[in-house]
Amino acid sequence: MTPSIPIPFEVGSTVWWPGRGYKTREVTCPECCGTRSLKLTLGNGAVETLKCAHCGPGYDPPRGSVTEHYHEHTPEEITLGNVGLDSRDGPRYNIPDGGYVYATALFSTREACGARCVELNAAAAEDEERRRVVNLESKRRGLAFSVSYWRRKIADLKHEIEVAENQLGRSLERRKITP
Ligand SMILES: [Zn+2]
Repeated sequence: MTPSIPIPFEVGSTVWWPGRGYKTREVTCPECCGTRSLKLTLGNGAVETLKCAHCGPGYDPPRGSVTEHYHEHTPEEITLGNVGLDSRDGPRYNIPDGGYVYATALFSTREACGARCVELNAAAAEDEERRRVVNLESKRRGLAFSVSYWRRKIADLKHEIEVAENQLGRSLERRKITP
């Protein structure tokens, strides 16, 4: 007798799964509020207008909006393709999007799948919160860098003005001497 392994769902049957949960949406840039530029007030009161780097990274011009990736699982009805066996995680089915799904992630009712979606969404929201905190910290470091950059720039410009004034002074002196 050929040994057989029971599979929880029949090939070709329609079941529910929480989906991959990767979604994107276009939102107004949180840095420039859609204006595409930022104003930086220096210590001496001078205002510099900078192109928003958040919605225009690298050489791209600012867009005023950013693509936000977010996680949200909702019950999806899928038809199961061929079944395969993973030695560690058990039976897995090919699904219409070209990937595969483990039997442990599938549900026979929409309700049971919906309950799993709620759990997954809660876990994703927690991850998202953690990521937000890390981003905020790195942004603060970026801002601190920006402040020291502009301070250095002011010091350099002051030095240049000094050199230029001295140069001008010397030129005027020479004109006085030579008839
Ligand atoms: Zn922006």
